[in-house]
Amino acid sequence: MSLEEIRTRIATAEAEAGRPPGSVRLIAVSKVQPDARVRAVLDQGHRLFGENRVQEAAGKWPAFRDAFEGVELYLIGPLQTNKARQAMDLFDAIHSVDRPKLAKTLARLAQERGACPELFIQVNTGEEEQKAGILPAEADAFIAECGALDLPIAGLMCIPPVEETPALHFALLAKIAARNGLEGLSMGMSGDFETAIALGATHVRVGSAIFGEREATPR
Ligand SMILES: *Cc1c(COP(=O)(O)O)cnc(C)c1O
Repeated sequence: MSLEEIRTRIATAEAEAGRPPGSVRLIAVSKVQPDARVRAVLDQGHRLFGENRVQEAAGKWPAFRDAFEGVELYLIGPLQTNKARQAMDLFDAIHSVDRPKLAKTLARLAQERGACPELFIQVNTGEEEQKAGILPAEADAFIAECGALDLPIAGLMCIPPVEETPALHFALLAKIAARNGLEGLSMGMSGDFETAIALGATHVRVGSAIFGEREATPR
């Protein structure tokens, strides 16, 4: 599918949900994709990208930033505290704040640097053991804790369990955000971004539908 088609589908989903045009931002998830495919999407004028590993992003994005103006890069994967400083230098937003230890580290570094990327808290809506994120029952307290640390929390993020109906998870995330006064909702991927938009997504993270299937994901 082309970038243009995805943009059209997003616009249609916005209209169907009665939401203003442009209210949903498209994060093109470029992890593991060959440089030529990423460059092709940059050449078409797209500027917002997501990566899920600090190391990989550090390897490929400085050169793209030099070559293309206005690139925005978001971290959407787990962040180890020992890579937090590097991540803050590299990314314009971090959508995977998922535990108190990381929040405290980010807060300390934000003080030191006098700046902090925009932050989203990842909620493990499916309560999956292998998945990162704050449990729904602990989300309110963690959001408050981040607020007390003066972190710039703009919203919440989730990755629903693959075998479940994503709509229930998107609705749960929207509910937690609303009761905590947060406006950002990072939810929806290639297979379900229209559903996410219907339920209020402000950021959709679309990879394979734009770039094609990924080669085996390294872990
Ligand atoms: C890889 C990834 C995506 C994109 O997934 P696709 O199904 O290829 O659209 C979205 N969000 C996160 C957190 C990812 O790691």
